[in-house]
Amino acid sequence: MMAQPGDEPQDTSWKKILRESNPKINDLVHTKLDVKFDYAKAYLYGKAWITLKPHFYNTDSLLLDAKGMDIKEVSMIIGTAKSKLKYDYDGMLLRITLDKMYKAGENYTVYIDYTSKPNELTVKGSAAITDAKGLYFINPKGEDKNKPTQIWTQGETEANSVWMPTIDKPNQKSTEEIYMTVPSKYVTLSNGLLMSQKTNTDGTRTDYWKMDLPHAPYLFFMGVGEFSIIKDSYKGKEVCYYVEKEYAPVARTIFGHTPEMIKFYSEKLGIEFPWQKYAQIVGRDYVSGAMENTTATLHQESAYQNARELVDGVGWESTIAHELFHQWFGDLVTAESWSHITVNESFANYSETLWDEYKNGKDAGDMQNYNDMQGYLQGPGNPAKDLVRFHYADKEDVFDGVSYNKGGRVLHMLRNYVGDDAFFKSLNNYLTTNKFKAGEAGMLRLAFEDITGKDMNWFWNQWYYGSGHPIVKIDYNYDTPGKAMVIIEQTQKTDKVFRLPLAIDVYTGAAKKRYNVWVENKIDTFSFNYNQKPDLINVDADKVMLWVKTDNKSAENYVHQIKYAPNYLDRKEALDYFAKKNMPELANGLTDKYAPLRRSTIAKLEKSKIAEDAKVMETMEKIANTDADRRTKAAAIGYLAKTSNAKYKALYEKNINDSSYSVAGAALEGLIGLEPARSYELAKKYSNDAKGDLGDVVNEIIIKDGTEADFDFIAKRFDEMPLSQEKLQAVSTFASYLEKVQNIANVKKGIDAITKFRNAVPEQFRGFVDPMIKGALTKLGKAKGKEIDDYITNGLK
Ligand SMILES: [Zn+2]
Repeated sequence: MMAQPGDEPQDTSWKKILRESNPKINDLVHTKLDVKFDYAKAYLYGKAWITLKPHFYNTDSLLLDAKGMDIKEVSMIIGTAKSKLKYDYDGMLLRITLDKMYKAGENYTVYIDYTSKPNELTVKGSAAITDAKGLYFINPKGEDKNKPTQIWTQGETEANSVWMPTIDKPNQKSTEEIYMTVPSKYVTLSNGLLMSQKTNTDGTRTDYWKMDLPHAPYLFFMGVGEFSIIKDSYKGKEVCYYVEKEYAPVARTIFGHTPEMIKFYSEKLGIEFPWQKYAQIVGRDYVSGAMENTTATLHQESAYQNARELVDGVGWESTIAHELFHQWFGDLVTAESWSHITVNESFANYSETLWDEYKNGKDAGDMQNYNDMQGYLQGPGNPAKDLVRFHYADKEDVFDGVSYNKGGRVLHMLRNYVGDDAFFKSLNNYLTTNKFKAGEAGMLRLAFEDITGKDMNWFWNQWYYGSGHPIVKIDYNYDTPGKAMVIIEQTQKTDKVFRLPLAIDVYTGAAKKRYNVWVENKIDTFSFNYNQKPDLINVDADKVMLWVKTDNKSAENYVHQIKYAPNYLDRKEALDYFAKKNMPELANGLTDKYAPLRRSTIAKLEKSKIAEDAKVMETMEKIANTDADRRTKAAAIGYLAKTSNAKYKALYEKNINDSSYSVAGAALEGLIGLEPARSYELAKKYSNDAKGDLGDVVNEIIIKDGTEADFDFIAKRFDEMPLSQEKLQAVSTFASYLEKVQNIANVKKGIDAITKFRNAVPEQFRGFVDPMIKGALTKLGKAKGKEIDDYITNGLK
């Protein structure tokens, strides 16, 4: 799953609760479901045949999760007959008394007739999904004309038991069959293969889906709606994309790398894609990023980009890779409890780095790795949390920057330590040993020890069962002739001293010599003899360490580093240093081979003292004219735009209709800089098709320069923006525009549009969104007087 941030709990009594794996008394074997949907009531009418067996000890009782249901019948299936069973149901748990004592391995099947009522359920919310309803009816009565009617489910963590009785724990696995009866105009998606479809006389159709390989209950999925299905394949297996009709023409641009990803991961892991097919579906109002339901991944609407947005890059590709990798890590081998979610999420997170490295080159993989590391470091609560987490307030809390970002970096260090071959062989070993079963961090350690022959307890104790990261200071000393010294001091405030195997490269000119060392004390000193004083000593030469460092290199060292050290971070660190020290060497970044470094250099140059040097401007013009990377080209055009120099007019005219929104947006900025009086007219001209950077420029101008007469156009534009960060930014500009509007009815309409947007923001983001929206509206209320001020206050209630 791709999670969203939640709040830190206040109550700390959870610290005393050990979160163990669910005890296995009965094991799921097979789940057969027959379901129908009541769109008017948002109910599901279900019949379930659940086959189980005692795990080891004999038992005559069965405990099932069944949240918020009406239970109509519970029976034992005996041959072809049904025999009623005694049960007790408290609205959450169904306690069934079986007809006799069952022995280990002895299968039995219970039948349950039930109604699922997800909208009437009050369960403690999941941080990832507003609330854990399990089954979601989107616009079920078709009342919202701008939204299709859809159904989708979200199981993780333990919410599928809202729509099917089961043992809703990750250490259970079951094969599965579902008969879904839906209005004929809709298509369905579930796990496994669509075996048959039967048209009914009442305008409905029954689709029969079958998954004959066992998987965990939280990975069960149903999706229903009007979708175009675009089909690719991988080695004869169907690979398909369920998208709304509008996106059918671009579905392959968004998802089309999937077969190549399946091939890449299958080969890297030495285990062929284990399932029957792989489908991806985009659901409306799905706020939890994406979810790796077995063979049926669900994505949120952010996956949708139009053809012009896609020119600037597929924004969702990392998530596509992440959910796909879960088909091995999470679905084939499943975390046995939420405490061990690292064996799902750290791998899925790291798969994003692996894919980038393979598809876009080592710099791209390194950048992904570095950015994810910052994601961990920037979360204030993260350093205190263990990766394997036996204590947490809520099971949703483990879906955080530690389980994802830190865990991914731990795998990167592990790969660097044992080497590529051993790393992927060990992953193969872990998956092969535990396939179709549950796994935990300890099994991963055994798999690595088995392959490498190395004792890995130190690594697991430090990184999996421990918390935090090293904070180091690196100093260099050349006081003794012929000897260079590197002093690495661990300065973190805890008592813990980290053990870190790392490489140090010593450079003389272009030549370098590598030393592999262990940092394992509070202060470690490493000496290197030399004939000619080194130009650079590069600690953590592979740039893999998860740490925060103060590296006291000289300016000359960094000048050498950007020229000779090979890694993305080597060059980035040098450029950061040049920017900080206002050094002209910063301009070197403009010709870096990696586009994102060229782009970040452009941003840094704007604030530097060489911003307008002739050489810089010449290179900038060249990038603006010829760079193959559209966003880098756009950044250079945007740079030139700030000069308001008329000599670039032809460049802007040439690019204003570019298919890339970022290039067109920068060109529009350039034209506006040259002809400010025409900006409103220009913005309006390009507003019909303006998203991304072009959308930002257009919104800013239209709302800023718009007159009272433009109200309908501006209000419509704001109202139709999708729920997004861009829209949040547009709130204050829109509110400022409303200050200029004299027609009170229109001001109120504008306020309604803003409050409507605010109310559509999911609960868990309100803490972030509310201050910005309230700030903008309060300012408007003050400017317009009491009537409007009261109107705003009432609207926000
Ligand atoms: Zn995930």
